[in-house]
Amino acid sequence: MLEALNPQPQDKILQLIQMYKDDPRDNKIDLGVGVYKDATGLTPVMRAVKAAEKKLWETEKTKTYTGLAGEPAYNVAMVKMILGDGYADRAASVATPGGTGAIRQALELIKLASPTATVWLSNPTWPNHPSIIKYLGMNMAEYRYFDAATRGIDFAGLIEDLGRVKAGDAVLLHGCCHNPTGANLNADQWAEVAKLLLAKGAIPFVDLAYQGFGDGLEADAASTRLIAETFPEVLIAASCSKNFGIYRERTGILIALGEASRRAITQGNLNFLNRQNYSFPPDHGARLVTMILEDDTLRADWKAELEEVRLNMLTLRQSLADELRRATNSDRFDFVATHRGMFSRLGLTEAQVNILREQHGIYMVGDSRINIAGLNAKTVPILAKAIAQLAA
Ligand code: PMP
Repeated sequence: MLEALNPQPQDKILQLIQMYKDDPRDNKIDLGVGVYKDATGLTPVMRAVKAAEKKLWETEKTKTYTGLAGEPAYNVAMVKMILGDGYADRAASVATPGGTGAIRQALELIKLASPTATVWLSNPTWPNHPSIIKYLGMNMAEYRYFDAATRGIDFAGLIEDLGRVKAGDAVLLHGCCHNPTGANLNADQWAEVAKLLLAKGAIPFVDLAYQGFGDGLEADAASTRLIAETFPEVLIAASCSKNFGIYRERTGILIALGEASRRAITQGNLNFLNRQNYSFPPDHGARLVTMILEDDTLRADWKAELEEVRLNMLTLRQSLADELRRATNSDRFDFVATHRGMFSRLGLTEAQVNILREQHGIYMVGDSRINIAGLNAKTVPILAKAIAQLAA
């Protein structure tokens, strides 16, 4: 049987990690993989996570199974963090293995309810979105998103494309910190998109993987909250990988908002999907998140550290934009300072990306997405100079 399998295409980012590992140069710079790193290149365990782990080790009495939807307290705390109060009667939810698990379960829920629905994705988007949709055999369409000339949003193109959405289609929206571009809709644009999609009868599907990495924990939830208030039905797939720094613990949640009278049936279907795919969701990361969100001291410390992380990335953005201004004697790269989140798409050609890697040991994804957190005060001017040389 196994001989019938064909080789899978290599994941480009994982390939890049390997190339970086194999590069013997001391001065190489990794701007590829999407994890936060501090100035020393470490992806630290956050202080509140360590403290919660210690407390958990001391107090945990059993590791018997949790519920199919996860521990109810986790779901309550996450719905509150993402949406605020007032959703208890409309929100069905399940804990999932990471944000990816939530996306997968959301897509399976769409398929279960409406097998012929089309799922709309921004062009570009996180490559795992189309990959999972294709694997599930679902219909998919793209809407314009990124303007390669300005490195901002192609809003006219986006509105034109979303004008073709049919009633019952699902439209995937990055709640904040768009991956891979770093370009985000402003509040007025979000309102216009919401108005259009509501008129079309679409189901918004929000991917919220970076809450707290853009403009702040509350500010980054604003667009998701607007969507939740506006639409009768909404799916939200959220990840705790980045904002709690617990990547490998696989901690996420899928929230399905709908009519209160349908909540129990929706919840039953979410539980069913968990049961089919992996039975009980992982608990360790979810439990740490719950402990942190429920404890005033831990929560305050976590928020403070998350804010340090966010401000560190903003400082790096501003200094990279400043250095690029100096090095290129132009404002062509000012967009780096206005982008938000961990990534910016620089708008370089694949050939230029290859030159940066081969000649300078600077590693970024082929579409010229850089991980801002891969930089530090020392490497910012090195990157700026190398980019300026390309343009010269
Ligand atoms: N959505 C987006 C846009 C992402 O960038 C990521 C992580 N790279 C995820 C979802 C999923 O994250 P995880 O499964 O690691 O929680």
